[in-house]
Amino acid sequence: MNWRRNMRVSLFVALCLFLVFTVERLARISAFSEGQYQAESALRQTVGALEDHISRFEALPALIARQSEVRDFLTSGASEGQISAMNLWLKETNQVIASSDLYLIALDGTTLAASNFDRADSFIGENFTYRPYFSDAAAGGLGRFFALGTTSGVRGYYFASPVRHEDGRIVGVVALKIGVDDLESAWQGLGHHTLVTDPEGIVFMSSDPIWRYRGLLPLTEDRMARTTASRRYSDLPLQSLDHVTMIDAGKEVIRLAGTTGETRDFLTVAKSMPNAGWTVHVLFDTAALRAQIRLRTAAAVLLLGVALSLAWALRQRKARLQERIALQVAAQAELERQVAERTADLQEANDELHRMQADLVQAGKLAALGRMSAALSHEINQPLAAARNYADSAALLIDRGDLPRAQENIGQILSLIDRMAAIARHLRNVARKPDEALHPVDLHAVVTDAVKLADTRLAASGVTVHMALPPGLPPVRGGPVRLQQVIVNLLTNAADAMEGMAAPVVEISARQEGGLVLLVLRDHGPGVPASIAERIMEPFYTTKAVGSGLGLGLSISYNILKDFGGDLRVSNHPEGGACFEVVLQVASVRGMAAE
Ligand code: ADP
Repeated sequence: MNWRRNMRVSLFVALCLFLVFTVERLARISAFSEGQYQAESALRQTVGALEDHISRFEALPALIARQSEVRDFLTSGASEGQISAMNLWLKETNQVIASSDLYLIALDGTTLAASNFDRADSFIGENFTYRPYFSDAAAGGLGRFFALGTTSGVRGYYFASPVRHEDGRIVGVVALKIGVDDLESAWQGLGHHTLVTDPEGIVFMSSDPIWRYRGLLPLTEDRMARTTASRRYSDLPLQSLDHVTMIDAGKEVIRLAGTTGETRDFLTVAKSMPNAGWTVHVLFDTAALRAQIRLRTAAAVLLLGVALSLAWALRQRKARLQERIALQVAAQAELERQVAERTADLQEANDELHRMQADLVQAGKLAALGRMSAALSHEINQPLAAARNYADSAALLIDRGDLPRAQENIGQILSLIDRMAAIARHLRNVARKPDEALHPVDLHAVVTDAVKLADTRLAASGVTVHMALPPGLPPVRGGPVRLQQVIVNLLTNAADAMEGMAAPVVEISARQEGGLVLLVLRDHGPGVPASIAERIMEPFYTTKAVGSGLGLGLSISYNILKDFGGDLRVSNHPEGGACFEVVLQVASVRGMAAE
């Protein structure tokens, strides 16, 4: 994965570099084209100005040659006086036409008269045969030449024209020199450099003086010979101008050092002026162009950078968004996992609870079974052992012939058997629901009957029953026999609880509460301790000695009342003694019919 990423990055970088390179190249081409355009227009202007200047003087020597004063002066030879007059005339004319010097040369090359006759560097007496303008004019042509004045040391352009006698014979030459310093100084301070080379490639006019009189073309022997012959540059030593030419962005560029010494690159254009034999060069410094290129390239790079940053930011944003979504998904998954885990834990705890409950029920059942076995074995073994004793005695009594006592014994055995049968019946009642149908029962009658039934037991303990049922109680829902059984149970328990008391009393009362009738039996015994109040309704729960109680009375009573849609509640009276509340539903005729 890493190498692929690296590859992508390298490709990307290469692409960026290529883009920058291309932009730079395009910027360079356009900048150089603009530069060239400017240089060319500057060149046109410069050449135009030069041509204007020269053409203004071009025709003048021929005009002056035709003047009779000039012709006569050259034809007839000159006396002192004539020379002086001619000198003055030349000086005046020179001033009028605004040239540098105006002078007349004899055919032997000697200057006879000159406008500068009165200066130290006067041309008078100088011989100019070596100057091409003289030889050209002496031969009948129009002479023109550029040179450094051998006498004056001042650069100038020379025009010359033959002076003819009336018969057409050439008698001399009129020459005119114009300066170029003004032209040259006008080139200063422009945005470009200008220089002019002669046919040998030597710079004679230049906006930077350091390039002047230097050869742009190699200074070959031929060129040096021609230059020396015409003494164009007088005795000035000539040197090559160190430069390098090259092509940049399809344009010609020249590198050379100026007055400041440092080399610079110039976009160069040139145009020749065939009449004058000159070549005008305009040098356009490329520094400005390069700055422009750099600026444009920088702008493009900046733009590229901004675009890239933008793309990068967008990419980052997208990545962050995806990351956040992924985090959310992960968090959701984690939450779901935790929920599932908790649910599983809960389920496990629940299962455990169920198992423990089942175990408890099982343990409770076993405990109840144990208690029942102990109680039953006692209840049955005791009468069995007694019956066996009675049977043994009866057998002895029969052997002795004491039949009446034997019969008494058998009677005892029978009553023991009856008791065991009664226990069995009792148990059957617990195990199985009797088929007795439910009726509206008159509570008053049932309670009266029950008290009568329990009379023997109550009398045995000397218990008095205070019955205080209000009149007009509605009939209740139940079976009369089983309801009697419940009340007898409760009376018996009360008698048990008050055993040994001086004046034991049971109070029976009743009241109606809405759809219910509450029958309350209150004794004056010790009451039911809170610690066992919850358990006394359980089957086989008893606090009585083995043999005295089976622990079934309250359990059976509770179940009977539940069958009736009622309840059995136990509490302790504030003044002592237990309160058993038999809750019964008021019988509704329709409800009974539905049974
Ligand atoms: P048994 O009478 O055979 O013990 P019951 O189910 O009738 O069985 O009674 C369970 C227990 O309730 C009794 O052993 C006794 O401890 C308690 N009990 C019942 N009635 C009373 C009462 N009136 N006063 C005090 N305790 C009572």
